[in-house]
Amino acid sequence: MNYVVMFLMVAVLQALATTANCGAEGAQTLKEISGRLIETYQDYIDGADETTLIWRDGTRMPLDVEPKPPGSAEWLEKPSVADMLRVPYPLGQLAQPPHAGADPGRARNQAFFRKVYGDCRSGAVNKELVDVIWLPKKSSQRLRVTRINGVAEQLQRVSDELDKLSSKFDKFLIPSAGTYNCRVIAGTDRISAHGYGIAIDIAIKHTDYWRWAKPASGASPRYRNRIPYEIVEIFERHGFIWGGKWHHFDTMHFEYRPELLPIAR
Ligand SMILES: [Zn+2]
Repeated sequence: MNYVVMFLMVAVLQALATTANCGAEGAQTLKEISGRLIETYQDYIDGADETTLIWRDGTRMPLDVEPKPPGSAEWLEKPSVADMLRVPYPLGQLAQPPHAGADPGRARNQAFFRKVYGDCRSGAVNKELVDVIWLPKKSSQRLRVTRINGVAEQLQRVSDELDKLSSKFDKFLIPSAGTYNCRVIAGTDRISAHGYGIAIDIAIKHTDYWRWAKPASGASPRYRNRIPYEIVEIFERHGFIWGGKWHHFDTMHFEYRPELLPIAR
């Protein structure tokens, strides 16, 4: 191939890659991926070699088996540890609805989460749950989340900051629709993020969910969101991602995933 043509092709591919990652952080190399996990789960993960994550108790876990196409059914159902970080979570307000395949954080490697937070079906998550006071001045609702990895502490910080917002935000926040719940995601055998005690649903009334949008079979759900970004920004600053940034949107849902958020580290 002519070198000029090849040079131009490389330049175009680089430009496309830069555009795709603009304002977002997706980890691509296994070294980058393990680095982020070590940084954000440092009480549990000791280190990594080129292909394996090494836990503090000596357990070794493969980082990757074979990359799965982001957004595909296999990516969602059986993501490797590395697959979880390959779809970048966009920072800041969304300029447009998330495109198909953009569900950052929606794929969870079950072995990884069980290792950090435990299996709720055996009672292991339950014994780590502590109370967070939801909006102490405005509501005082008690919510149960895990204390592992600082989740309860971070959610209390979120709650204290949300409590200072003006009263026009109250209807989106009070009452919270719940936190810990040991259940599988409907129609699957995968434990929901709520089963690890790392997720919270804010008030249901003004939220939108892709399943409620009732897309025709095979069609894309029509994106809708009514949650003000001021709320989202506070959660993100403390390590929580928002389901409103998913193509399969769930705008009441937030979960603790600091590995997807550079600003939380
Ligand atoms: Zn939820």
